[in-house]
Amino acid sequence: MEEDCIFCKIVAGQIPCAKIYEDEKVLSFLDINPISEGHTLVIPKAHAENLWEIAEGDLAAVHRASKKIIQAMKEVLNPEGVACLQLNGRGVNQVVMHYHLHLIPRVKGSDPLPVSSWEIKPGNQEVIGRLAEILAAKLG
Ligand code: 5GP
Ligand code: ZN
Repeated sequence: MEEDCIFCKIVAGQIPCAKIYEDEKVLSFLDINPISEGHTLVIPKAHAENLWEIAEGDLAAVHRASKKIIQAMKEVLNPEGVACLQLNGRGVNQVVMHYHLHLIPRVKGSDPLPVSSWEIKPGNQEVIGRLAEILAAKLG
């Protein structure tokens, strides 16, 4: 448990949450400031800030749980779609520094989700190709 981490406090039961799912490694609850009806957060119980830090087993458990949760969402909310969003770092507006996956359903007839639409601009294929080579070499 990390001191001053709001999600660790939720895991410890020190702060209440609208819990929807729990297992050995994972906790899931509704977001307090929902972007849409049913906006859900899925978190590892063990503190890790982001995708760089999270243990592989916790990461797998979060995503396995999200598959169960999205099934329940489908049955309860019948959404047109669900956006999965996960931010890493303050530079991309991560506010709570405890890994969390957002599941954001768009219920039929509601407004489009801002997180799922952006302007399509073709990239520079040369730059894309060069960067792909550099990243692939790091991963190889
Ligand atoms: P992010 O760090 O990805 O930008 O977003 C953090 C999310 O956590 C926000 O959507 C915010 O509404 C949610 N959040 C922050 N504090 C609490 C809390 O105490 N309870 C719940 N349920 N959600 C929270
Ligand atoms: Zn934490």
